[in-house]
Amino acid sequence: MQIGHHVSISGSLANAVTNANERECSAFQIFTGNPRGWYTKDITDEEALKFKNNLSQTNIDRFATVAHMPYLPNLSSPEPPVYEKSIKAMIREVKRCDQIGIPFLVTHLGSHKGTGAEKGIKRLTSALIEVAEKTKNVTILLENTAGQKNSVGSNFSELSEIFSSLKPADRFGVCIDTCHAFAAGYDLKHEKNVKSAFDEFDKEIGMEHIKILHLNDSKGELGSNLDRHEHIGMGHIGSTGLGKVIKLMNKNKTPIILETPIDERRSDFEDIGAAKELA
Ligand SMILES: [Zn+2]
Ligand SMILES: [Zn+2]
Repeated sequence: MQIGHHVSISGSLANAVTNANERECSAFQIFTGNPRGWYTKDITDEEALKFKNNLSQTNIDRFATVAHMPYLPNLSSPEPPVYEKSIKAMIREVKRCDQIGIPFLVTHLGSHKGTGAEKGIKRLTSALIEVAEKTKNVTILLENTAGQKNSVGSNFSELSEIFSSLKPADRFGVCIDTCHAFAAGYDLKHEKNVKSAFDEFDKEIGMEHIKILHLNDSKGELGSNLDRHEHIGMGHIGSTGLGKVIKLMNKNKTPIILETPIDERRSDFEDIGAAKELA
């Protein structure tokens, strides 16, 4: 089982590896820079080397490491300046991943800002195709959304529509977030319904395209469209359903990343322990 947390790069990129290793992670996710800004300074060759060296001294497989896009870019934006800036930011981010040897980059699908799903998806797919054309090596993972207003890709058929229009196909994959799926109306609480949700995913897209799973419980109720993560087993999804999801992922050797809250109720380490017990 490959499992770990989203870890901080505070101090240096190489520190993230140390943070992950200290938490006994066998997988981890990072932001390569400031998640709330448009600009971050370039990664130097020395920093990249240090990150790679640090990683090679752990038992963490490179293919269980993933980066997450910063929050500001919106690849579905109807405003040309924001749209162009978002594409540039993503090209830069893919190159940063490539530079430090991270094979996967998770991206949100953006907001069409009321211009409609069809137009939003058109902009999104053409942005992603341009990013893939101008970069190499890294696989871009589309993350399912909780179904907030003006978002696309909360249901598997819409995600499939997006995914199938991307090229080259081997540069793209999917990251399923359990909290988002539950908030979007997929009942992951009951084992039987977990199976049917992933059967639907398999039919629409194919299980082999899930490269990373975000394992989060949900503060919001089923179908609430709320993107609010909760500690494992302490939310509305609960242990039974999340346990079933973990087993499905382990069958396919899909790395699992937790993005559970940082608060005094439970530590990162305890959340990973809770997830391991469910396996
Ligand atoms: Zn997520
Ligand atoms: Zn989320």
